[in-house]
Amino acid sequence: MTGSDRRRIGVLGGTFDPIHVGHLVLARSARAALSLDEVRLMPTGASWQKSAVVASAAQRLDMLRLAIGSGADGTGDAGGLVADDREVRRSGPSYTVDTLVELRGELGPDAAIVLILGSDQLRNLATWNRYEQLLQHAHIACTQRERVPLTDLPEPVEALVRRHGAQRLADAPAGSLVFFTMPPVPVSATALRAQLARGERPAELVAPAVLDYIDQHQLYRPRPAR
Ligand code: ATP
Repeated sequence: MTGSDRRRIGVLGGTFDPIHVGHLVLARSARAALSLDEVRLMPTGASWQKSAVVASAAQRLDMLRLAIGSGADGTGDAGGLVADDREVRRSGPSYTVDTLVELRGELGPDAAIVLILGSDQLRNLATWNRYEQLLQHAHIACTQRERVPLTDLPEPVEALVRRHGAQRLADAPAGSLVFFTMPPVPVSATALRAQLARGERPAELVAPAVLDYIDQHQLYRPRPAR
């Protein structure tokens, strides 16, 4: 199998609470920079790292589908972005390494799987369950997130970069760690939830259909005092 006929599948995991323009620009930039056939956006089910998740897994998945324009049943054309609900369906903690093994079983041994990370996640990588095994199952592609530097990484992450760092994705199913650029998008879900809680409707940060969903389901609102 050569590079030209090897499928390249991107995986972008996250809480997506709620999905915002930073996630979409990240997914599209990775797809373009790395010539990915598709990017699977994968909301976490029971997040073992974030305790402040507000919307339910089903709501986060609904909003993701609305944002990528794939319709509620996930079947529409969304420009190479695909909602993947496997972690939401799984009970117990969602570990990325388990997700990659499962995906490898489905996609076969030849497909290139590319795990997409913002710099905050790369810096955090050594806290992930069995993080040393991730590159056996996938490539890792990382980009700078506003104000979170890619320099002075924690030593276990620097070690991964020394061992696996490459200028471009190797013609292989897994094993290289590369960096790509995206236009800076200064938004985080945490800051966005604070805006929504103040009653703002930041149309430049969230897809209109997602804002409507947030309104309908009364998400991210302060609880009325009793
Ligand atoms: P929180 O504010 O709760 O940390 P978040 O906005 O970081 O949420 P996540 O769902 O945790 O959203 O992020 C999923 C992935 O998207 C991560 O790899 C993260 O680095 C990346 N990401 C999120 N926002 C941006 C952004 N503005 N620019 C680039 N990458 C981003």
